[in-house]
Amino acid sequence: MNKKVLGIIGGGQLGMFICIAARKIGVKTVIYSNEEHFSAKKFCDHYFVGNTGDEIKINKFIDSADFFTIETENIPKEFLRKIENQKKLFPSSKIIEIAQNRLKEKKFLNNIIGIETTPYFEINNFEELKTYSKEFEYNCILKTQELGYDGKGQYVIKNSNLEKFKNLNLTNLILEKRINFQLEISVIVIGNLIKKIHYPPVENHHKDSILRQTIFPANISEKISKKAIKMALKISRSLKLEGVLAVEMFVTKDNKILINELAPRPHNSGHWTMDSSEFSQFDNLVSLIIKNEVRVPNVFKKCKMINIIGKDYLKFKAIEEKFIAYDYYKEQVRLNRKMGHYIDFE
Ligand code: ADP
Ligand code: MG
Repeated sequence: MNKKVLGIIGGGQLGMFICIAARKIGVKTVIYSNEEHFSAKKFCDHYFVGNTGDEIKINKFIDSADFFTIETENIPKEFLRKIENQKKLFPSSKIIEIAQNRLKEKKFLNNIIGIETTPYFEINNFEELKTYSKEFEYNCILKTQELGYDGKGQYVIKNSNLEKFKNLNLTNLILEKRINFQLEISVIVIGNLIKKIHYPPVENHHKDSILRQTIFPANISEKISKKAIKMALKISRSLKLEGVLAVEMFVTKDNKILINELAPRPHNSGHWTMDSSEFSQFDNLVSLIIKNEVRVPNVFKKCKMINIIGKDYLKFKAIEEKFIAYDYYKEQVRLNRKMGHYIDFE
């Protein structure tokens, strides 16, 4: 039995799966959730419900665990730094702060030799939006620099809808060229400065900017696969990663790899690792944090991970009869909300 306690900021499905992995090896968990009802509730040992500015609760949370990790990058810097002043946070606040701001993230990535993101411009007013959307031939996406996820805070910009943005407060945004990609893939790396493991690239299919399906293995050449892994490891090294990093990428029609974004936490495109590898992304994250160990995942079976989104959840019982299925125990079914997922081995 291990007496170390792991603190997790956020109690959604990612937090829930971290708790389940921790419990398997006797590690206790404590969640800090900003919602009364949260997925991880029945799998953690202790929890605090509070907002991210509640000093008293945050202090108690910090006192209650030895190590800390996150399940979302959208956490105020003050909260992260407060933890880091006293205890160890995986990954570091520096990495989380890069990944929580698209502009910082893109600048960081493009500074690494051999790494390239989608072309972009910083936008702070309508004039800039007008100028740069023209430069991108009106084929572009406007994104908030912070707080976006599952396509939230994103707007496709065309010549025909440009004027609609005229009277809006357009600050702290970026405009990205819309990439007519061949495929979206992702690579997950877990480790520290000395040892790292990675999961093979998987193929990701989105609809309305929300991940619907992840396919392992990705339908890409050996050459692209090796290149994607090399890039993910290079980014992890540049960040001095201690923890988990998911790297989302676009494979362009001419077989170039552009980095879309980084997630310094377990990733939806890695859920398949719970059923098709010996050590899932959650197992390896907990093992790294608590035991300073990572294990080669030994992936064994091709599969598809399919998200259960919004009203699809009403069919959960029927899905569960046919497939390995995971319920995220959300209180309410909401449009475009991730409610669960299942694994299809075909
Ligand atoms: P988030 O996952 O934080 O919502 P992303 O930037 O990853 O934000 O966007 C979500 C999805 O929208 C991507 O996975 C991709 O399918 C699509 N998308 C985002 N940016 C672009 C782009 N520049 N070109 C083409 N598709 C994009
Ligand atoms: Mg994304």
